[in-house]
Amino acid sequence: MPWHRARLVVNLVNGSTIFGVVVARAGGARLAKGPQGLLTATGYRPAVPVAPAFTVGNVIIVNRRHPQPLSAATFAHEARHATQYAWCGGLLMLPLYFIAVGVSWALCGNIGAWNPFERQSGLADGGYPQRPLRPALARALSVPRPIARRSPAASPGSPPAPGPGGPAESTASPSR
Ligand SMILES: [Zn+2]
Repeated sequence: MPWHRARLVVNLVNGSTIFGVVVARAGGARLAKGPQGLLTATGYRPAVPVAPAFTVGNVIIVNRRHPQPLSAATFAHEARHATQYAWCGGLLMLPLYFIAVGVSWALCGNIGAWNPFERQSGLADGGYPQRPLRPALARALSVPRPIARRSPAASPGSPPAPGPGGPAESTASPSR
């Protein structure tokens, strides 16, 4: 059995695809068969979520405010989310996903950048940026390193500030 047929069956049995159809229909979207056993639901009206597309089970739901059709990269990203539903046992994915959203936000201020579901689905394909950890967190987690010793010349106040002539034309240059 091809893997996407297995995903189709698993997400049907665990109820996530049926829930996806209900969400899509409730949002006024129109369902159509897509590749890889997925359904696409276009014209979803509610303002939330703001993402161009989101996935529930095997249903990729596309917001009506966003251009059609989905790019190949976005489709591939959403298809990976459908596979995640199968691995998570269906709708258990939703609370896990929202926890991951909160963790990512706490770590870096972005809901996707450190969210393992989005990272595994491809951040760039999903339109998420790469974000470093929040600076305080990065400092707290970093291995303590010996503090580089400053040379005396670099300490504040000791070298005279360059004058208006600028340092490049300094008279201290030995070649002149
Ligand atoms: Zn995503």
